[in-house]
Amino acid sequence: MTDLSAKNEIEAHALEWITAQQQNMQQDLWSLVEINSGSYNVAGVNQVAETLAQWSEKLDCHAEFIEMPPQDVVDDSGQLNQQPLGRALRLYKRPQAPIQVFLCAHMDTVFPSDHPFQTITQLEDDIINGPGVADLKGGIVVMFKALEAFERSPLQDQLGWEILFNPDEEIGSPSSSKLFSEIAQRHHLGLIYEPSFADGNLAGARKGSGNFSVVTRGKAAHAGREHHLGHNAIRAMANFTCALDDLNGQQHGITINPGFVKGGGAVNIVPDTCTMRFNIRIETSNQQLWCEQKIATILAQINTLDGISIELHGGFGREPKILSPANQTLCKLVQSCGKTLGLKLEFLPTGGCCDGNNLAAAGLPNIDTLGVQGGKIHSSDEYMYLSSLTTRSQLSALILIRLAQSEDLAWLQRDGMVRPSC
Ligand SMILES: [Zn+2]
Repeated sequence: MTDLSAKNEIEAHALEWITAQQQNMQQDLWSLVEINSGSYNVAGVNQVAETLAQWSEKLDCHAEFIEMPPQDVVDDSGQLNQQPLGRALRLYKRPQAPIQVFLCAHMDTVFPSDHPFQTITQLEDDIINGPGVADLKGGIVVMFKALEAFERSPLQDQLGWEILFNPDEEIGSPSSSKLFSEIAQRHHLGLIYEPSFADGNLAGARKGSGNFSVVTRGKAAHAGREHHLGHNAIRAMANFTCALDDLNGQQHGITINPGFVKGGGAVNIVPDTCTMRFNIRIETSNQQLWCEQKIATILAQINTLDGISIELHGGFGREPKILSPANQTLCKLVQSCGKTLGLKLEFLPTGGCCDGNNLAAAGLPNIDTLGVQGGKIHSSDEYMYLSSLTTRSQLSALILIRLAQSEDLAWLQRDGMVRPSC
């Protein structure tokens, strides 16, 4: 047996079997990374979904594709457009089993098909660099292998599972987030396969986040002959942006980032349109209300300017993730599984957001960084440790096995959950 600290033979067999899968996992990872799946590359995202549907045959489960509604996007000229998105893939097995686990991984990456970063490079024996290797195609491979190991165990009847592969996480899950509240009702806990931190630790509490677009409209006029007839949309946006940015520092934990602006054209024309986008991070749900009220006040002030109108799009898509008592117990279970593997796992708070925020908001305890160990995600330096394919698959397999073997799961009983019927 590979691991003497495994609690019993079932665990030891699963760990040993996963150890023997390292080469297979690397091949699977390469085949996923070869497919570009930038969030707006619909064909690429759908190709990933089809590949995963093929992989699911090994798990002998139900599979269905889910069409996603398009995303409303304000373009640079201030027009509201609809952006098509790829399909989601849902897999499930044993929905009547006593314990129901939800697993989630996104198929999209931040790298569009015309981005120069498209291939895997081996940096060291154990380290590769590539688009989405850590965030989170490595995590998809980890999840599949852990489930395969679990399905080989004699504990199957104790635990049913459902997976959602969503196509739009990297743009804030604008369409798939609507699925989470319904999914949360039929499960006891969630496992999400975002990468761990570079040092191997996992994310605990997370900030909430909102993405907004704002458009100011004025009136065009000749900058020399009829300047007095114009109403300058850039000036109005400058007023709005300064007032918005001044909210930084007023409440601990809130950060507001105006991150994009575009307006005007030829400098001899008073500009009639300006578009700006911003992101807000918050630590508590009350802070969302505070921000919304402050923004409404600023919008009203701008709207009083002569000849100027302003409109706001977007909103808070992710509530803060606060660790409930059940979530803290789940963290301890994961730490004890890590200990068996020689991993000392800490849960650290982060300002980053993911689908774990949405699950927590829907009342589902979850661990959201069960994917591979890696770093520098969202950049061309993204890397991951190949050996973490094995260790993190073992970690997830142990979590599933210990849940299925546990005699006391009262801590997971949740009010309002739809109880399995048997
Ligand atoms: Zn991710």
